[in-house]
Amino acid sequence: MIELNNLTVKYTGQKGTTHALDNINLTLEQGSFVTIIGKSGCGKSTLIHVMANLCQIDSGDMTFSGSKTPRVGVIFQEPRLMPWLTVSENVAFGLQYQQNDKQIIQQQVKDALQLVKLEQSGPMYPEQLSGGMKQRVSIARTMVTQPDLLLLDEPFSALDAFTKSSLQKELLFWWQKMGNTVVFVTHDIEEAILLGQRVIVMEHGKITEDLNVDLNYPREIDQSEVVKMRRYLFDKLTNHSL
Ligand code: ADP
Ligand code: MG
Repeated sequence: MIELNNLTVKYTGQKGTTHALDNINLTLEQGSFVTIIGKSGCGKSTLIHVMANLCQIDSGDMTFSGSKTPRVGVIFQEPRLMPWLTVSENVAFGLQYQQNDKQIIQQQVKDALQLVKLEQSGPMYPEQLSGGMKQRVSIARTMVTQPDLLLLDEPFSALDAFTKSSLQKELLFWWQKMGNTVVFVTHDIEEAILLGQRVIVMEHGKITEDLNVDLNYPREIDQSEVVKMRRYLFDKLTNHSL
């Protein structure tokens, strides 16, 4: 379980102080899949950065319950691959701090590439890949480390609708198999509902809604409950605009 208590992150610039996160309280159950939705600038990335320990907190705290600090993996919108390494080497890079022997690493890389349907592309270089394939490599590089907490910051928003849909399914498959905790940030309402057991809405650094999505997977966009929830969230996010 992860708990964020009265968490605040401020940025001070020429135009004054922005509360990127304004007194956030949030509990994430172990093994849950939570999506976070909100307009650009509402603080989604800051929240991911805090959970990934990439950002300083001004007040409040974050606690993990469990016997050890969770291993955290982050996937960003851009794949951030190393152009001088092959696909396999990029994925293996994620394992550089784990002291495994070469054969085990090779097997782990192979399994991860299979998961993202790139088992044939190991020897290729990033420049030879499409945008969707690059993002698949970036997912494999993170998955191979078997993170207890997986944080994704708009990972599919630069991809075409078909690639996005298959990557959503692959992610769900992986999560259902591994049972890790997933926090998935998006500005796509449909994506938030199709993936999350819980959809959290952020506005101006605050959590303004926390919905349970009690529907089985896979979910379809034309399912009546999904349509209803989509309309509700759309109204909420548009009515509250400045
Ligand atoms: P989102 O990911 O929802 O678009 P962010 O978390 O990136 O939102 O940003 C939240 C707010 O904090 C925005 O107003 C943004 O301009 C501001 N912000 C984010 N990062 C910085 C930074 N490094 N310096 C100054 N302001 C920042
Ligand atoms: Mg962002």
